[in-house]
Amino acid sequence: MANTKLQPILFATGNSNKTKEARAILGGEFVLRDLSDIGFEGELKEEEDTLEGNAISKAKQALQLIEFETCFAEDTGLEVVALDGAPGVFSARYAGKEGNSEANIKKLLANLKVETDRSARFRTVIAYVSGSEVFTFEGIVEGTIGEQPEGREGFGYDPVFIPRGYDQTFAQLPISVKNKISHRARAFDKFSRWLRAE
Ligand code: IMP
Repeated sequence: MANTKLQPILFATGNSNKTKEARAILGGEFVLRDLSDIGFEGELKEEEDTLEGNAISKAKQALQLIEFETCFAEDTGLEVVALDGAPGVFSARYAGKEGNSEANIKKLLANLKVETDRSARFRTVIAYVSGSEVFTFEGIVEGTIGEQPEGREGFGYDPVFIPRGYDQTFAQLPISVKNKISHRARAFDKFSRWLRAE
């Protein structure tokens, strides 16, 4: 196992918001670099059919870009019970390759029109690769899909996702609330506790 407190860990993402979130959760003890820090501006392939598969694959692809000993990646999906777990791993491109959130939400609401069960969850999987070892960490937030989009915060499916225990969508709730209870926060929290214990 590499000494992650001394050596930088690579986060296989080009999304600076995700890096910021991860740095805040992991704390100053760990040095985090992301794909833009290493000058990579391409896209990592997401061709697997599970969140776990994509997270592991992205971490492995990134490790080949540069001489880092360790790397982690994450993949997230919205899993709707009445739709047998869809959009799931296809959440970003549910309504088409271009990844348009408004179109994705429209398609989701149309597909749920005749359903009475609107329960859903966001699920994040973080895969940490160190040499030949792979470890995964899962974070879940349960909730329901609202009848129509509400709120302006957040991104993606936030305007239609109402987390359990609240009566507002992620896009209506303050971002500080989302960041405490979200799928990603829960997965990163597990990951950071594990890293600290290493
Ligand atoms: P990614 O793997 O984190 O890029 O997420 C894939 C897709 O899931 C995104 O394009 C969004 O549509 C959706 N998604 C992921 N996280 C969230 C979230 O926190 N809120 C709303 N939608 C999300």
